[in-house]
Amino acid sequence: MNEILNLSINEMAQTEFDCSCGKHHNFSIHDVIIGSGVIDQLPQVAAPFKDGKILMVSDNNTHRVAGEKAAALLKEAGFDVKELIFDRGDDILIPDESVVGRILQEQDLDVKVIIAVGSGSLNDSVKYVTSRTGLPYIICGTAPSMDGYVSDGAPLMADGFKISYPAHLAYGVIGDTDIMKDAPADLIAAGFGDVVGKITALADWDLAVNVKDVYRCDTTVELVNRALDKCFAKSDLLPERDEEAIQYLIEALTLTGVAMALVNISRPASGAEHMLSHYWEMDYVSRGVNPIHHGIQVGVATPVIARFFEEMKDIIPESSMALCPPHEEIEDLLRRGGAPVSPKEIGISRELFLNSLLEGYTVRPRYSVMEYAKENGRLEAIAQKITAELYD
Ligand SMILES: [Zn+2]
Ligand SMILES: [Zn+2]
Repeated sequence: MNEILNLSINEMAQTEFDCSCGKHHNFSIHDVIIGSGVIDQLPQVAAPFKDGKILMVSDNNTHRVAGEKAAALLKEAGFDVKELIFDRGDDILIPDESVVGRILQEQDLDVKVIIAVGSGSLNDSVKYVTSRTGLPYIICGTAPSMDGYVSDGAPLMADGFKISYPAHLAYGVIGDTDIMKDAPADLIAAGFGDVVGKITALADWDLAVNVKDVYRCDTTVELVNRALDKCFAKSDLLPERDEEAIQYLIEALTLTGVAMALVNISRPASGAEHMLSHYWEMDYVSRGVNPIHHGIQVGVATPVIARFFEEMKDIIPESSMALCPPHEEIEDLLRRGGAPVSPKEIGISRELFLNSLLEGYTVRPRYSVMEYAKENGRLEAIAQKITAELYD
């Protein structure tokens, strides 16, 4: 058994090992610190960069809930801190050319590290900029809303398209549960939806292994499955912000990030359900409408992808079918965790939904159950059937 499975999440930083999958895995993040009150450890994590300036990036909300404290802690410890605070009012910050450009503009020549205080968009933007400018970055997470804190991809908008740019891993990740448990309810629901999406992501990966003989690492699958079990066992308590439930949600999001970092692909975390969410998001952005949180979309896409599996149970390999629970079970799980359940409920139009089922497989060059349906001549019929079920 690979030793990483016996480590707690805070012990996983800087581990490397020879894996049963035949590869040597390396998890190079310097510090992953998750727990109550751990924001106090920010100055220690940033200590190696004390000879230069720190650029801290937040928005008006994340500044209030964590940025102010983070900056005070650093200044108290003698750091030179410059702050960039995005103010979008009530709008969601979209990680696009303008946000990336602003961060770059504020990266003075003597900045030694950038600290992102926030969740999805800020993390992705800072991750991307630092991966290009060669600086390390530290993320101080403010919401358990997605799994990108520990991943080497940065999904950004470019010319209205969502592109998943390769980037680097954070130098340090700080997830203070005291801060994260007070995150807005829709962000907690989003994180939960993103975790629920791992169910079909793993089934999809298995399908690709069976049909296209792609690489898989069982250690990472095991890592994700254990995290899912813990998180789902407590999901009923998420809506009331139970501390343990929030902690397990953060762990599940972080551990899927670790899994992705170990295998250098996003298969452990993302399958066809993510393709649907990317398709919907691009449509929202092209219409100038605020997109719904990533994880909320992924959540409602998950039972839809489970329907693809069900509709093709006569031809889908048994092992892949076994990994995909009935769609009703997934819907129930979402409901218990306080997340939306259907695409209709989150305002996806019938037309957009149908188009996403028909074209979603083209979003990424990656084999999925949707492409499987296409190859077997079943895509059109399945898309029409699922759409009629949900909308008519
Ligand atoms: Zn995701
Ligand atoms: Zn492996």
